[in-house]
Amino acid sequence: MQSIKNLLLLSCRSPFLDDSKVYCPLANLYLKSYVNQHLPGVHVVVGDDDYDLTLASVEPFDAIGISIATPQRFEALTLAGLIKERWPDKIVIAGGPHVKHYCDEMLQLRVFDYLVPFDGEKSLTRIVAGKATGRVVSDVLTRTEVLSQPRPDRKSANAVSVLRRYSYHLAGRSATTMMTARGCPEQCSFCEDAMTSVRWSSLGNIKDELNDIYRLGYGGVYIFDDLFAISLSKIRPICEEMHRLDLVYRCNAQARYFTKWGDEMARLLADTGCCEVAFGAESGSQKILDNVRKRCTVEQNYKTVQYAKKQGLIIKAFILLGLPGETWETLAQTEEFIRNAGFDDFQCAVYMPFRGTQIRSAIEKGGLVDLIIRPAGIDGEVTGAYGTIGGNTAYEVSTSALSSEDLRTFRDYLVMRYRPSSHKRRWEDQDKFFDQGSITGPHAEENPVRQDHRRLVHEELLDTI
Ligand code: SF4
Repeated sequence: MQSIKNLLLLSCRSPFLDDSKVYCPLANLYLKSYVNQHLPGVHVVVGDDDYDLTLASVEPFDAIGISIATPQRFEALTLAGLIKERWPDKIVIAGGPHVKHYCDEMLQLRVFDYLVPFDGEKSLTRIVAGKATGRVVSDVLTRTEVLSQPRPDRKSANAVSVLRRYSYHLAGRSATTMMTARGCPEQCSFCEDAMTSVRWSSLGNIKDELNDIYRLGYGGVYIFDDLFAISLSKIRPICEEMHRLDLVYRCNAQARYFTKWGDEMARLLADTGCCEVAFGAESGSQKILDNVRKRCTVEQNYKTVQYAKKQGLIIKAFILLGLPGETWETLAQTEEFIRNAGFDDFQCAVYMPFRGTQIRSAIEKGGLVDLIIRPAGIDGEVTGAYGTIGGNTAYEVSTSALSSEDLRTFRDYLVMRYRPSSHKRRWEDQDKFFDQGSITGPHAEENPVRQDHRRLVHEELLDTI
């Protein structure tokens, strides 16, 4: 097979998001560095997700790699179709999580010449070098290879111009994203990343990457790892380096690990510039946590918030409704958790049963799971987006006790009642709607109609509970 001399790497547009220009295309920046290191003669460019710009710039490239998440599958198909229609000889390569979990379906789509279901680095390099032997190219980086892999390109003019198009802020500072490790050792049955081997970058690489970020003028960084606050000794030198560079940061945690280290972990984060910790609390019901193998207790979720608040950290909880076995009673326990735990913000969605999660495969195998999937995608599959435009979410599951509509009503109620910053667009928009003469007004205290409406909604919910 002929080798490739010019490679364009694209991410798909995310038209379902309020703002898709928040998190930079980190995966493509990793791929660019890896191919550059192993095949220095190949010209690799990371492109834009604006298709008009993209199509105008495709001409000089022999091959186009497209990174695809499941909610972007139609966008990816459109883009690949447009490219193939105009330039049938160009090679189109698909990668990303959608290819991993929907590889058989992707194989039916002839617009994709190659599919890369796992880590892209080695597979893409093999394709570019003309050494791939089939349409599906599956390589995985070992722990040792991840340790020494080149850090994502943040230096070339192309990379810098791509990074500048994304705008993300932490504590009022311009910030970007990075990863210190891939994978998660936890077992949550609703999550695609569960039980994936944890592979850390070397400390030297992480420090160099933080320096790249610092030199670009960023004042903050979101550590995108599934679980960063997992081991005190592992993260201490990384936190200290961020502190040395005066980079504020945000990271993810899990209650069992966080409470294992307790004050010590919270203090380390607080003392080194952590401005926000986010953790997957999921539910206020122990039954639900056990159902989804969360491997922590509701008590540990409460304590995580207490440890964080004691050290002055801002803490945000991820709440997931509609997990197997959800009832009005478990929803009420989740509301109790939201009301009493004391976190600063929460993000609330309804479970999206992606392929690749243990729950989805148990349902497909006919297992006893109290969950019914009601796919809303035009291809008969779930649409795939947890967060959608206007601070909304998707509703594509029901349980024996709750319909999708029940879950929608309760999720809307939680968002409107507790007004988390994460869903500001949802409740702000609602206020605007109310301003325009709907039955409820913008300020509950001033508007008895609205108060009454809210009381009715609440009473109705309590009645049902
Ligand atoms: S939900 Fe979080 S902790 Fe659980 S498996 Fe996924 S990434 Fe890991």
